[in-house]
Amino acid sequence: MTDSMPLPPGMSVIERGWLNANHVLFRENDNDGAVLIDSGYVTHADTTLALLRQPDALGQRPLARVLNTHCHSDHMGGNARLQREYGAQLWVPEAEAPHIQSWDQAALWLDDAGQQAEPFRVDGLLRPGETLLLGQTEWQLLAAPGHRNEALMFYAPEYRILISGDALWQNGLGAVLPDANLTGLAAAQATLALIAGLDIDWVIPGHGAPFADVPQAIDRAQRKLAQMRADPQFWALSLFKSLLLFNLLERQQMPLDQLPAYLQALPLFRQAGRLLPPMAPTNLAEQVLQPLLAARLIACRGGMLRPLIVA
Ligand SMILES: [Zn+2]
Repeated sequence: MTDSMPLPPGMSVIERGWLNANHVLFRENDNDGAVLIDSGYVTHADTTLALLRQPDALGQRPLARVLNTHCHSDHMGGNARLQREYGAQLWVPEAEAPHIQSWDQAALWLDDAGQQAEPFRVDGLLRPGETLLLGQTEWQLLAAPGHRNEALMFYAPEYRILISGDALWQNGLGAVLPDANLTGLAAAQATLALIAGLDIDWVIPGHGAPFADVPQAIDRAQRKLAQMRADPQFWALSLFKSLLLFNLLERQQMPLDQLPAYLQALPLFRQAGRLLPPMAPTNLAEQVLQPLLAARLIACRGGMLRPLIVA
């Protein structure tokens, strides 16, 4: 996967599926021991621990710190477990800390989005503009608003590597919610412009394999944002599709006949629905489901929906 990506000594990438964000591991760190960026989904924490205990990951060594690019359930869901198992210190972006400390379900996209996580203690804050020494390498913390206004990216100029979280994937970016003045959309575009101005050989995204063709990925993401701006219906349906697929990865199955009501029930789905003209719940369910079936991301057999991609 990362054979041709020159990584700093002691750094590795553990690629996960789509319910769990990728992990970036710094096995040795001059400051305080091993450091992990992003911890996966709460219900998959056993797998996360098993991956970390592989000999080529931590093996039996301790984990000193966990850093989050942002506090969505797929990036911080394993934090509490890692705090218990390793006594690891948990560092989050400064702007996320109030949400974690008050465990704000809506701000964290938990109940409102049909997602789960486990509360944890914040031990330290990551601030945009700061530089961290991870291993022997300096990493700049860059603000990455858009998908998540509180989010940060990690950039190592010496190695020209960007850890982008959900601000840029090889084929798109994390969901951007509609708001009154489309500020999220504008912020996502500005974050892409920031990335385009960096000297980058490799991007390690929050989901999917690391990739080297950065201009092409930026172009794809920019086009998607432009299409969302021009066509609210496209935007709404892509939100419904990504939120539903994520929830199905967690639940693993859902009766087809429950889908219309499910798409009306969650506040985050309703927020996406505001971009759509009024339509019957069954019509919306049809419009959301058909492209997911056609793309073979979801299967429908015996009246049951199941995901076809790895969680
Ligand atoms: Zn996210």
